[in-house]
Amino acid sequence: MNTLNTDDPRIKQSYLFKKMSGDSVQCLTCRRMCVIQEGEIGKCKTRRNFEGKLYTLQYGDVSSYSLNPIEKKPAYHYFPGSTALTLGSWGCNFECDWCLNWDITKNPPPEKYTDASLMTPEKVAENASFNPSINGVCFSFNEPTLSLEFAVDVFQLVTNDYYKMIVTNGYMTGEALDYLISAGMTGMTVSFKGTENVVDCLLDMKLKYVWENLQMAYQRSIHIELVYLLIPTINDDEEFIRDFAQDVIKNLSVNTPVHFIRYFPSYLTRIEKTSISQLQKAHTIAKDEGLNFVYLGNIPGHPFQSTYCPNCSELLIKRNIFSVIFNSLTEKGRCPKCNQVIPIYPYKPVYLT
Ligand code: SF4
Repeated sequence: MNTLNTDDPRIKQSYLFKKMSGDSVQCLTCRRMCVIQEGEIGKCKTRRNFEGKLYTLQYGDVSSYSLNPIEKKPAYHYFPGSTALTLGSWGCNFECDWCLNWDITKNPPPEKYTDASLMTPEKVAENASFNPSINGVCFSFNEPTLSLEFAVDVFQLVTNDYYKMIVTNGYMTGEALDYLISAGMTGMTVSFKGTENVVDCLLDMKLKYVWENLQMAYQRSIHIELVYLLIPTINDDEEFIRDFAQDVIKNLSVNTPVHFIRYFPSYLTRIEKTSISQLQKAHTIAKDEGLNFVYLGNIPGHPFQSTYCPNCSELLIKRNIFSVIFNSLTEKGRCPKCNQVIPIYPYKPVYLT
């Protein structure tokens, strides 16, 4: 029997769906656009059709909650050294066999919630304002698109003194993205799985929708950084990387920060970890194609975690793992050596002042 416990505070009517024939509905939250029959759940297992209406099953159900340096997202050009109150929930709309957060992304929301795992937008806003070391709020860990209703409510409530961002695969509908931006979202780190060869064939998605979303976000002045988890034999082909770099320039800008991240075996994938030389090759290709800010992640101590002036090569921001060691940008955000404007949102954490 199809029942819905309406006393469960996590159950809330979805913001984006349309009625179809009979009691079926179409979810308009992500580009999967699942058609869901009465009593059934969508592909991500976080939305259910009950009596011809669609409900999210995880409003405010927080699987993970922590204070993170913004460098962990990663976002290197967005208030470097700042701290984001970061939260995530359950599930994903992608089915990557190499997922690093599989313990929460491969699971639906638990049948029962605990008071400790339940948040309200008011509680998130209060927690952010209570702690003076917090500079922003970020939805991450699982796919934030699935928490659309909660994220929209949180972004509307948290004041504009804070940045509001998501770490996402970018596969929401244009309508969902518009909702997030209109609610006050200011930044996105978007994770790429590769070019069409991987995304369209292996994951049964359409990469062009991610680029469409990125263009929309870019045109609306949302800060964007891109992540490319480099996995040997899956997406490390030189042509893929060249195509990706060209697509970034074509759709966004030469100044869009791109992070190639070292893969380690995870979840179902047992491919050998990415070698440092493969990552450095990706870095060289992306720079040769014209990108100004290319970074390597998951390699502690590597010099390509740091920011260099694209004009004179001066070391501007030195990082190690998730820490900013120093930041030599001038108050006007310029290179202190050649005066080049560097497109980085300015911030100096207390420990560097
Ligand atoms: S969020 Fe995406 S995967 Fe989940 S039900 Fe809606 S369309 Fe399907």
